[in-house]
Amino acid sequence: MRLIDVHCHINDSDYGDVTALLNRARACGVEKIIAVGFDVGSSEYCRALSARFKGVYFCAGFHPTELSKYREGDLDKIRALAEDGKCVAIGEIGLDYHYPDTDKELQREIFARQILLADELELPVQIHSRDSAEDTLNILKEYAGKLTHGFMLHCFSYSPEVAKEVENAGGYFSFGGTCTYSGSKKAKRTIAALPADRVMTETDSPYLPPVSKRGIFPNTPESIPEILSVIADIRGETAESAADEVWEAAHTLFKKLKPA
Ligand SMILES: [Zn+2]
Repeated sequence: MRLIDVHCHINDSDYGDVTALLNRARACGVEKIIAVGFDVGSSEYCRALSARFKGVYFCAGFHPTELSKYREGDLDKIRALAEDGKCVAIGEIGLDYHYPDTDKELQREIFARQILLADELELPVQIHSRDSAEDTLNILKEYAGKLTHGFMLHCFSYSPEVAKEVENAGGYFSFGGTCTYSGSKKAKRTIAALPADRVMTETDSPYLPPVSKRGIFPNTPESIPEILSVIADIRGETAESAADEVWEAAHTLFKKLKPA
């Protein structure tokens, strides 16, 4: 069974040497990991990690809650990183209206500019969207013609109705530890309603531990089998077939993942 974590942040500062971490993930069947940047420095780190480890790929991008660090010229640095052979997408980018003092206009501007960058580079995007469903959907509609290389909403947390709109727009989804909790009925209904070829697994490590690691920091890509088994249960299928579907979906969207 080949497993993939399509979205995580595995920084040395949280884990010490990540070699041991990646070996343990591999022992659990997690053969590929997409390490995701959230600003220029973390995107550079993710690229360096992907150069060191065979099964590690990365995303480069500026996260909406990190924009106080944003400086003009940073998107040129993201562009240079994204030209790397192992950069599978621009991300994570998007909107996060959780904190009331945020500059929503700047968020929308940088989100849109990174969508245009992805289009130029013929890459898909990994989207973070929190408390901002309406504006996210509006941007997905407005920039539909620039999202032809695909997009994925990570840790999807909205209703099945919003999911349907994203699905109709051609979007992919990934789910993490939050879907393993007995209280997460909305995520379970969404997974049940989505076609299997649009759904992927992620951990968002070091955050969002699954139920078996409740309260434990850091979460790790070793949580993927637990998340996968919840998705398989919801669909009433075996973990093996769910793993194949996730693997296929990831390789369909992220074309720079090597097929092996
Ligand atoms: Zn993330």
